[in-house]
Amino acid sequence: MPEPKAPTPANAPARPGHVPFASLGISPELLKAVAQLGFEETSPIQSATIPLIASGIDVVGQSQTGSGKTAAFCIPAIERVDPAGRFTQVLILTPTRELATQVADEVHKLAAFKKGVHSVPIYGGASYDRQFAELKRGAHIVVGTPGRLTDHLNRNTLDLSGIKMLILDEADRMLDMGFREDIEKILAAAPAERQTVFFSATISPQIQALVRRHSRDAKTVKIEQKAVAGAPLVEQVYYEVRHHAKFDALVRLIDFHNVKSGLIFCNTQRMVDELADALVGRGCSAERLHGGIAQAQRTRVMNNFKKAAFEFLVATDVAARGIDVNDLELVVNYDLPYDAEDYVHRIGRTGRAGRKGRAVTLVSGAGIHKLESIERFTKTKIRREQVPTPEAVEGKRSDALFEQLRATLEAGEFPQPTLLIERLLEQGYTPTEVAAAILHHFMPKPAARETVAIAPQSSDRDDSARRRPGGRFKRAGSEGPRGKKKFSPRGGQRFR
Ligand code: AMP
Repeated sequence: MPEPKAPTPANAPARPGHVPFASLGISPELLKAVAQLGFEETSPIQSATIPLIASGIDVVGQSQTGSGKTAAFCIPAIERVDPAGRFTQVLILTPTRELATQVADEVHKLAAFKKGVHSVPIYGGASYDRQFAELKRGAHIVVGTPGRLTDHLNRNTLDLSGIKMLILDEADRMLDMGFREDIEKILAAAPAERQTVFFSATISPQIQALVRRHSRDAKTVKIEQKAVAGAPLVEQVYYEVRHHAKFDALVRLIDFHNVKSGLIFCNTQRMVDELADALVGRGCSAERLHGGIAQAQRTRVMNNFKKAAFEFLVATDVAARGIDVNDLELVVNYDLPYDAEDYVHRIGRTGRAGRKGRAVTLVSGAGIHKLESIERFTKTKIRREQVPTPEAVEGKRSDALFEQLRATLEAGEFPQPTLLIERLLEQGYTPTEVAAAILHHFMPKPAARETVAIAPQSSDRDDSARRRPGGRFKRAGSEGPRGKKKFSPRGGQRFR
């Protein structure tokens, strides 16, 4: 039998809408930045809008938070900047300061290899002095909230005369928040021949009117979601957790359910590496699979996974295509997939061949809206569960240990280190004390128990992120794995 081939971007079936970034004709500097961020392929909104925006026409992109929309407009925006020109060339409007800093952060990361491109976030509540200085220095890309940007326009500290590209991110939300006048003023202050790009979760008549007034022949891109059938044998649950508690939640679930084999999906190579390292640091046997790993190594990892030589495989969608393992207990969406199709594809890896499988999704922040849309498109209900408490995990471990000891005692077939035990008893210790001391070496130390708050507190929730009655999606803070995330694995000893 020929060796099964590990899936590669070259031999894997193509996923519609996902293409290699290199096929979009973007510069080597941007390709390098995208690779450094660990993005393996575009998301559908990226493959649809990046070439259009790069061609210079006006574009309206309908997309939600978590779709990869920020990179969709940041990549062509960075490409458009001439670093030699010391003036503001791109203006990005966002509804909130949180989003302004997130977008500015993404610009910063994507422009890492573009020499001399400067960007600045401009929002209310921050010191004017620093903003004056940054604007005076001629920040190429300004990312700001409409209110504070209008302030700067009124003070003549923001010069829009050199704007080549104006981007409105979450345009619907900006209108909802009452920024219409400010937006109109900013748009009127920018040169008429600029390119205008709108991103919005919904295209209401108000948005359409705004687009008509302030753009020329704008092309609208909507990523159509096809309804896809769910995998009925798979038990689907989700856990709403704080972003920084995802790892602890995952470990508790693994421990609580005593999971012995699982496939864990992350969206980026970097996240795969961090998670695989953290799991190993936590005492699990885990391997990784992503497009940045040499083919020979990938084949080895795949074969070992099939042989159950290790417990957990952490992978990106691209690398995991074609994985054919029959008795997977668990699939985990550590990062939410981009769309319902990816979700179904991922969870279809468990519950195969008539076996019962379990698919677990960790959701943080505004990701809950994406999950709701996955539910709608897969026409399945994903059950919400609570992450077990440390006490519950502890209880399960004790039960398992009790069962194991009871079975061993019952069978009576084990070597008895009588001499050692007698020596301890002669020291005056009771049999209970001796047994407790021995068990102590197997049980997790109290210091290793989790103290991390896992569930989101009501104060973590940005109510504007909740879905509104009209089915509108709202953004709340960061939801995806932005930037570097460092795990600090605790030295908890796993007991089997
Ligand atoms: P956004 O919809 O822009 O808020 O993006 C959601 C998250 O997805 C962010 O953390 C991005 O860094 C990440 N992201 C964007 N594009 C990609 C991609 N092509 N592959 C993997 N992750 C991505």
